[in-house]
Amino acid sequence: SGCWEPQYRVVLLGDPGVGKTSLANAFAGVQERDLLEQHGEVAYERTLSVDGEETTLLVIDAWEPERRESWHRSHCLQVGNAYVIVYSITDHGSFESASELRIQLRSMRQAEDIPIILVGNKSDLVRCREVSVEGGASGFIETSAALQHNVAELFEGVVRQLRLRREGK
Ligand code: GDP
Repeated sequence: SGCWEPQYRVVLLGDPGVGKTSLANAFAGVQERDLLEQHGEVAYERTLSVDGEETTLLVIDAWEPERRESWHRSHCLQVGNAYVIVYSITDHGSFESASELRIQLRSMRQAEDIPIILVGNKSDLVRCREVSVEGGASGFIETSAALQHNVAELFEGVVRQLRLRREGK
């Protein structure tokens, strides 16, 4: 059945240590985990059934902000059909980085209306919170990769946003 399912590339962005790899692992699941090495990128492929329709996401965890080569940076910012920008609710600096990345991405991909989801991860660490909840904001969700809280909802949200754009064209 796989041939006709649309496939989308979802790129994870955000500072080191915010939980990108943990979210990718939680998305892929231990059993279904499918690690692909593509041009040195690490990608996790999974087909989700959302609202009765199947969609395949290829989640790419290749962002290394410390890498100097600007081609790597711009490649990451160009290849995604959708972006998940992650910060940690326990690290205000990571929230600032995420906000800057969102602005940079919007300007680089100005002509396209790509889904960008801002994710406040580590929501289980309530006592260490440094970033308040952006209550009710669209394109925003808090997750805990450690407790698997809201991880499914995050990627289902990505699928719905991608479909809205597809149908709008
Ligand atoms: P990355 O550098 O953005 O890929 O971050 P990692 O996925 O490697 O996670 C960095 C550290 O944060 C690891 O020690 C993880 O176990 C921890 N971590 C990731 N997500 C969560 C979370 O939701 N809650 C808690 N408490 N720790 C987390």
